[in-house]
Amino acid sequence: MMDELVHRERPSPNFNERTLPVSMVVIHYTEMESAEAALERLCDPEAGVSAHYLISEAGEVTRLVPEDKRAWHAGASYWRGHKDVNSASIGIELDHPGHALGYRDFSEAQFAALVPLVARIVKDHDIPRANVVGHSDVAPARKIDPGELFPWDRLAEYGLCLPRPEKLELGDPFDNDGAFYLALERFGYDVTDGRKAVEAFQRRWRPERIDGEIDGQIRAILFQLLLDRDRGHAR
Ligand SMILES: [Zn+2]
Repeated sequence: MMDELVHRERPSPNFNERTLPVSMVVIHYTEMESAEAALERLCDPEAGVSAHYLISEAGEVTRLVPEDKRAWHAGASYWRGHKDVNSASIGIELDHPGHALGYRDFSEAQFAALVPLVARIVKDHDIPRANVVGHSDVAPARKIDPGELFPWDRLAEYGLCLPRPEKLELGDPFDNDGAFYLALERFGYDVTDGRKAVEAFQRRWRPERIDGEIDGQIRAILFQLLLDRDRGHAR
């Protein structure tokens, strides 16, 4: 199956069969020097990693693994009760130097290619907006990609992920840290490493301050996200 959103195919041997229906999109950065280097690694049987798509900084989309197969991008992960995130997700790698090689804004051409691709995937698989996430959301203790410069707010304008709640109805609804962690887990995060989970939440929902501290603002943001979900505004 070819579609006009995919510019080329570079089949990776690194995949197997899904054990769950597709219900998520996981966004990554490659943390490599070039798209070509990343494609080589994602196709290397020795590396044992892959993704369904890679988008170069110039906006070229390469398909590596068919969507009905399980690509190997998320590793040990957790989201909303699922431990086998690879089986439940489509993985998209963004060609980018990452935090290790010089963290910077994602390119416009890359974002312009990402939007219609995610839109098509979300529509085809009826994926809830709350399940369009970053690698750091599903592996908070291990991963920080795509990181605080990824424009979630812009993706949300297209209705492709949850927006950051703007109007916060209540301050400080979770009166202790234990209650906050319970709520964070209910929203979807693995809270085994509490501080890392808080950092991952901040990276996604309040990127202007990532310090691992539970403060009134992030309590209020999380409470609003759960309220919106309970009211059926988001699933
Ligand atoms: Zn990743």
